Amino acid sequence: MIEKFHYWLDAEEDSFYLTASIQEINENNINELKIEGANAWLESLGKTSEKFVTTLPYKHIRRTFNPKGLACEFSKLKTENDINNFANIYGLLGISTPDQAHIGKIKFTKSVFSDSSHFIDLPIGQSYCEPIELWFFHIKEMQKLLKLYQVLINIHKGDLQESFIEDSLLSLSKPIGGSCQILWWDGSWTGLTAHEDELAKEYSFLKLAQGILAHKVNSIGNQDIKRFPETIITGKPPLGFTIKECKYTSYLIRAIYYDLWQLISNNEPVHICENQSCKLPFKKVKRQKYCSNACKQEAYRLRKKSKMK
Ligand SMILES: [Zn+2]
Repeated sequence: MIEKFHYWLDAEEDSFYLTASIQEINENNINELKIEGANAWLESLGKTSEKFVTTLPYKHIRRTFNPKGLACEFSKLKTENDINNFANIYGLLGISTPDQAHIGKIKFTKSVFSDSSHFIDLPIGQSYCEPIELWFFHIKEMQKLLKLYQVLINIHKGDLQESFIEDSLLSLSKPIGGSCQILWWDGSWTGLTAHEDELAKEYSFLKLAQGILAHKVNSIGNQDIKRFPETIITGKPPLGFTIKECKYTSYLIRAIYYDLWQLISNNEPVHICENQSCKLPFKKVKRQKYCSNACKQEAYRLRKKSKMK
């Protein structure tokens, strides 16, 4: 039996899932809207109001879904409006509503970190609403992973020195209890730690970088991918049919990471937008230099401005 909500990853059949949109939830409308999980999220974030991406109040079912290019498309979301449009098409990410244990964990991590690290490694599952802050966290994660991927390609090609990783991409926190957190260039936590003894031995930032990419892609994009056998009538002996295995997932976030995994395993190149105020990774079409028309125009304006000085 196939699960009720599903995103096909390689089949042309109809997917089945709820689309979502942004809705602000606060003291005034929370009881009226009755959105499952909103209270748990607000409690864990210590807030009384927040913008959420939610399937309610208007339930809308969508069927057409194409996972190809999803990782890059997701990483390019910049504004609330972008997120709203994306959720209108693809639905919720599928980060479970936190239970009591996770509410406690989020509260604790929030008190320790100054950034969005409290959203790291939350369980994937059924959800009805997700804080917009959580969406921005996952979008940034994808941007960082694509950037990491692009850097690793360039190092392997010889266009970039290996030291670039240590200089501009990853760093280590001071050791706490014998292990160091591996941090992104902006100081946020990658979610991974390295033991001091391991670090004392021969290690390289290149290995750390490769490990992070592999770990992230595997832990989200390669777990809980379901397989559904489909029979295809061929009329040929001995059976007259063959069996094709179709992959699907119930959660959008896995579909996004599955696409990243496909991108990596097909060695597809990723480029960095040449707009200096953007610099986001994107998939190039022909000789495209910018991730979007908006960036092309912005870069043009910036060039013009600097010439006028
Ligand atoms: Zn751009």
